Amino acid sequence: MSETLATFAERILHKRGVEIILNDRLKAATAEKAILQSGAEIPCKTLISTVPSALPPVLQSLDCAKERGKLLVDTALELRGYEGRVWALGDCTAIKTVVGGQVPPTAQHAVREATTAAINIAAAVRGGRRVEFGFEGLGTLGSLGSGAAVAEIFGVKTSGLLAWFLWRGIYLMKMPGLNRKVRIAADWLLHLLFPPELAQTKLASEPGIRNQHFEAGDVIFRQGDLGDSVYVIEEGECEVFCERKGEQELLAILGRGACFGEMALLSDRTRSATLCARTAMDVLIIPKADFNKLRQSVPAFGDVFTELATRRAEAGSPHFSTEHCMPASPPGMPTEAWGGKLGSRRSSSTRAPP
Ligand SMILES: Cc1cc2nc3c(=O)[nH]c(=O)nc-3n(C[C@H](O)[C@H](O)[C@H](O)COP(=O)(O)OP(=O)(O)OC[C@H]3O[C@@H](n4cnc5c(N)ncnc54)[C@H](O)[C@@H]3O)c2cc1C
Repeated sequence: MSETLATFAERILHKRGVEIILNDRLKAATAEKAILQSGAEIPCKTLISTVPSALPPVLQSLDCAKERGKLLVDTALELRGYEGRVWALGDCTAIKTVVGGQVPPTAQHAVREATTAAINIAAAVRGGRRVEFGFEGLGTLGSLGSGAAVAEIFGVKTSGLLAWFLWRGIYLMKMPGLNRKVRIAADWLLHLLFPPELAQTKLASEPGIRNQHFEAGDVIFRQGDLGDSVYVIEEGECEVFCERKGEQELLAILGRGACFGEMALLSDRTRSATLCARTAMDVLIIPKADFNKLRQSVPAFGDVFTELATRRAEAGSPHFSTEHCMPASPPGMPTEAWGGKLGSRRSSSTRAPP
């Protein structure tokens, strides 16, 4: 997009109260904030990410010429080193047009590359004239919502409502079939006259087992909180504090592979300690419902946590006694889990279990 159009778009968004931060990157995100590479922190509960799609991993395993991870092809879309035998096109390729410009990863280019590749494959099989990819793009369109857009078509720049109509019109033309075109046009027209209802019925169930990131100093849960999940540390370290007689006592430092949070779930009591990230941490969170399902379906899984909670209780964590610990396995079930002794699963960086 040209600089003048980008500046126009920026101005419209700025008027709407959107703050645009350029030349920075998202480094990490917690449940409370987004953290940028520059160190700036944006307190937020919702993140909408528009990072570009990554290249498919299958490309990494291909032993051929590449440019920034993309398959290197010539202007006839033949893979470098495999000319006349392999053709590649679309987002996974690095293509230069006949005038030397880098072809951007867009659909308007991809569909035209398909025609070029098809002609060249037919030429290689049946003989005939090969063609080169010379499409330079028709232009750029960007919708800003609320009846505003920016557009540059065949070198002509336009913005505002006109660009918005252009944007809608072009996408409508691209819809396959008259039936679909009429339905979409009628739908858009109705939306103009009667804006859609914004009420949303939440039908999707709560996410189950998930990952979460914490920054150093973030509290994961506090002593006295209701226990709703069990945590497994994938990366980083956290500290376990317990408040006794008004004093915060450090009980343990847990590292990669350690689990915590099981005591409140097994004893059906509130959290017996406060867990605080000591370094940046990535954890796997297993919500109570999933944890209980796993304990019932895989008794050995439940036994690991029952054993862990018992050990921690013996080591002095308050509010917990083994009599509150609900056995996960039926009587007589072996307590050996996942082919190893339970004790062997303890994290090496655990100083003292909470
Ligand atoms: C959110 C978004 C908006 C976009 N908007 C526009 C736009 O407005 N205008 C525009 O011109 N372009 C737009 N693009 C870009 C456009 O979608 C792509 O450039 C285009 O789809 C590329 O076509 P492709 O055939 O290379 O890849 P794709 O369309 O991504 O097709 C690749 C196919 O390969 C499949 N696949 C992947 N790995 C494997 C595997 N190992 N085995 C088998 N199959 C596999 C995938 O499932 C997929 O179906 C947009 C892209 C995104 C993500």
